[in-house]
Amino acid sequence: MFDTLSDRLTSVLQNLRGRGRLSEADIDATAREIRIALLEADVALPVVRTFIANVKERAKGAEVSGALNPAQQVVKIVNEELVGILGGETRRLNLAKTPPTVIMLAGLQGSGKTTLAGKLARHLLTQGHTPILVACDLQRPNAVTQLQVVGERAGVTTFAPEPGNGVGDPVDVARRSIEEAKRAQHDVVIVDTAGRLGVDEEMMRQAADIREAVQPDEVLFVVDAMIGQDAVTTAEAFRDGVGFTGVVLTKLDGDARGGAALSVREVTGQPILFASNGEKLEDFDAFHPDRMASRILG
Ligand code: GDP
Repeated sequence: MFDTLSDRLTSVLQNLRGRGRLSEADIDATAREIRIALLEADVALPVVRTFIANVKERAKGAEVSGALNPAQQVVKIVNEELVGILGGETRRLNLAKTPPTVIMLAGLQGSGKTTLAGKLARHLLTQGHTPILVACDLQRPNAVTQLQVVGERAGVTTFAPEPGNGVGDPVDVARRSIEEAKRAQHDVVIVDTAGRLGVDEEMMRQAADIREAVQPDEVLFVVDAMIGQDAVTTAEAFRDGVGFTGVVLTKLDGDARGGAALSVREVTGQPILFASNGEKLEDFDAFHPDRMASRILG
């Protein structure tokens, strides 16, 4: 994961090793190299700019004292700035004081939403919760069945419109699922919504209507990390069209560059809550900015 970026940053920072005091020119040269590495990783330009400005300012102002030599100090600063753009603290899922907690998933078709619904359900099950999945993607043939299959694998119930009742209204299904959750004592409701291949007004409106109807505790924007900087444009469209409280990065296992992961938090202002890194239900974890930064810096 992010091997090129990781290699580049490690070698740039290694070049500083064994040096005494760093001149402004040394810091500028290092910052330039880091800038190139981030741009090659497909990190969004405004994010790169802020990152580099912060690193330069802090590195130039750093006191050369204490236990760290100048090179180590720059490594520490780069690490802290990486943790910062990745979101700082690990952000936990927001659970409702009075169950059920409602979590709505939104994102493009193919982003990995259905898979994620199963992963999240399984994750919550292992933590002692009693989640239920809700199929609100009623347009795409097979979407309901796919969610049911994922639900079965995860060992949870899927709430869906009864077959034979026509296409059904996703807002109505979402609303009724909350009643069902209360009746059958499911403490978390995971609502899967329709996605299209591209950003689409009708899809946004439907997701916004579902959000309005069920007032979720979390709206998670699910995004394929492999699309790089396009993730940023898509995230902005979902932020403006539906709004979301957190991000889930999927397919990190196939993301060689890291641009989406490093840009999405800073651009949208919303934290990354989870990372998905494979097709299996267990390829999933909470997102820890500090661990991710340490992995990138090798
Ligand atoms: P949806 O259209 O958003 O519901 O997307 P799906 O959940 O159906 O996923 C689309 C494809 O991506 C499927 O083939 C999944 O197996 C695959 N997929 C989902 N998450 C991951 C992941 O984290 N890593 C990899 N490698 N594949 C994934």
